[in-house]
Formats: sequence, C-alpha cells, structure tokens
Amino acid sequence: MKYYSLNRKVVDESFKNAVIKGLAPDRGLYSPGYIAPLPKEFFEQIDNYSYPEIAFNAIRQFVTPDIPEPVLKDIIKETLSFDFPVVQLDDHISTLELFHGPTMAFKDVGARFMARCLGYFNKDNDETVTVLVATSGDTGGAVANGFLGVKGVNVVILYPSGKVSDIQEKQLTTLGQNITALEVQGTFDDCQDMVKTAFLDDDLISEMQLTSANSINVARWLPQMFYFIFAYKQLHNIHKNLVFSVPSGNFGNICAGIMAQQLGLPITHFIASNNVNNVVTEYLKTKLFQPKHSIQTISNAMDVGNPSNFIRIQEIYKNSFDALKDNISSYSFTDAETKEAMKEIHNKYNYVADPHGAVGYLGAKAYLKDNPNAH
Ligand SMILES: *Cc1c(COP(=O)(O)O)cnc(C)c1O
Repeated sequence: MKYYSLNRKVVDESFKNAVIKGLAPDRGLYSPGYIAPLPKEFFEQIDNYSYPEIAFNAIRQFVTPDIPEPVLKDIIKETLSFDFPVVQLDDHISTLELFHGPTMAFKDVGARFMARCLGYFNKDNDETVTVLVATSGDTGGAVANGFLGVKGVNVVILYPSGKVSDIQEKQLTTLGQNITALEVQGTFDDCQDMVKTAFLDDDLISEMQLTSANSINVARWLPQMFYFIFAYKQLHNIHKNLVFSVPSGNFGNICAGIMAQQLGLPITHFIASNNVNNVVTEYLKTKLFQPKHSIQTISNAMDVGNPSNFIRIQEIYKNSFDALKDNISSYSFTDAETKEAMKEIHNKYNYVADPHGAVGYLGAKAYLKDNPNAH
C-alpha cells in the first residue's frame, strides 16, 4: 500500500516511511491510497475465521509488502494476546470490552502492533527512532508497555502534572529501559503542543528520527479495525442492524471502525459519543468545524479540543457533509449525566462502566430513541 498526505504534497509514501515519519513532511496525516473491500463471503463466513485470521485479512493490504505476510502473522499473534469479549446488557445494548490488555486501555492493540512494526523495520540497522508522545493518561501507558525493550526505539512521553491517575502515572514512570516520562506543568493540550513543536523543528528533525505513537500514526490507528470485526463475529448471529457508539476524543478509534465498514463490515451506523468537548457534535449541527480549548472532564481520554483524526473521516466521505452525516451521529454529555449513567448501568444491569464507557452508553441510548430497531 502507498500512502498520501491529506495536505496533498506527499504521495506514494511506503507504509514503512509513513510509520517511521508519523506525520508527513507537509504536516498532513497519512491516508491509504485506496481501500479494497474484502469479499462478501469473508463477512458471511466470519464464524469460520479465528481472530488472528480476521486481523490478517483486515490489515494485509495496508502493510504489505513492507511487512511480509509471515512476519505480519507473527506480529498479529503477539499483538492479540488477550480477549475482546462482548457483554450483552439487554436486547439493544452490548458492551465491547477493550480493557483486557496489559494496560487496560484499547490503545494496547495499536501500541503493540506499531511497536512490533518499528521493531521489524529496525532489526537490521543501527539507527534509533525516538517515539514522542503526549498523553492524557491512557496512551502513555499503552505505548510505554508496548514499546518496552524494542530494539532501536526510544520512547519519550509527555504527561500533564496532576491530570493522570496514580496508576497511570506509575504505568508511565516505572518501566525504565527505553522509556522516559516527562511531567509537564500544564495541560494535555500543552503536552500536545510541545510534541507538535518538536515535529516542526527543522534542527531537531535533521538530528534525530522522530515519530509519533498517537493515532495519527497509521500503524497505531489501523489495527484498531480488528476489534470492530471481532464484535461483529460475536453478535451477527444474534442481532441485525448493528451500530457502534464509540466514546471519542481524537477520533482515531471511530475512524478505524469506519475503515472496517469500508472493508465491507456490515455496520449500519456510527455514533460519536462525546463529553462536553463537543467539536464534532457541533459540526454535525452547524457544518462548522471549530476547534476549542479542551475542557477537563471525568472521561479524560476524551478531553480533546481539536480531534486530529476527524479529517481522515471527512476524506473517507470525499468531504461530503451529507454522506458523513448519513453514517455518523454525534451526541455530547456532561459529567453529571455521565455519573448518572454509571449509576444506572450498575443498578439496571449490575455492570460497572467507567466514565468513557458511560458516555458511549448515553450516545447509544440517545440514538435508540429514534432508531428502536438498532443494536
Ligand atoms: C483514548 C481513549 C478514548 C478516545 O479514543 P480516540 O481514538 O482518541 O477517539 C476513549 N476512551 C478511552 C478509555 C480511551 O483510552
């Protein structure tokens, strides 16, 4: 697969270079040159495929020939070392549990996959790649854990002081080896700005190979397609009319789901569920995409004021507002509503949801009001 930059000045970049650079030299996000849908039979016969086989079929076109097929199979096997269960709450709502990985964040999938790709690209040379990443909590832990001990890769994580949980801080700061964590007196946006400034610094990037492990990196973003298909495998015999409500921050996860749909995954609709950082909810109402300063909430991995992957979603719909709106709804919820939802989920279903999951639940419920036949 060749990648092009969404700023259109870079075309025909290899997967390898797209991963090592993270962001294109013209500052655009990399996007795959085409998406070849998988045969219909693949989804009809999904029950006959194991998870590693599903993942292999989903991502093969995007990473070969840079990652040869046998290597890809090994990378997938190592990436998927934990389960992805769907738990049914009632006839209309199930939850896809993405917290069974080593750091309990769905980002384990992308981080583990990307780390192994970089490890493969670096195995025969002595160059060092520095992965620079800003985190509001979950990304840093997953990246630190996924990249620990990978040859030729140094990881530097910037995190906002006092704004990640104690466990998250320990996940970032206690591993040692090739992982360095820097505590920043500021917000997540400040950390993100420092990372962006570093990428723009010509002196710095002529001295060292810098890349990103945020979802702007194609090797972290694309493997997130896998578990949308795993969920489909678990649900398609029980429920038709499947819809995903995705708790969204930087919009990498939901964009990966939409990529899986482009491959042919029979999903009716996507719901972008937001906390009060509601740039996309507002966009779908007003057609105006207006980035804002992020507001701190209890679903902190979604405190993003300028979701960087949204432009990839617009590109998938060829920048047609109407096509995008046909396939995506968006709702935004306050912390008070989120807390109420956590209580409701516990009382009604005896299930414990974290604030991000609760926002996803609220988005699903809002959509079900007008679309009672969805699951
Ligand atoms: C990262 C994260 C999100 C946001 O995902 P995006 O891909 O940035 O939209 C939502 N919930 C949790 C728990 C996360 O860790």
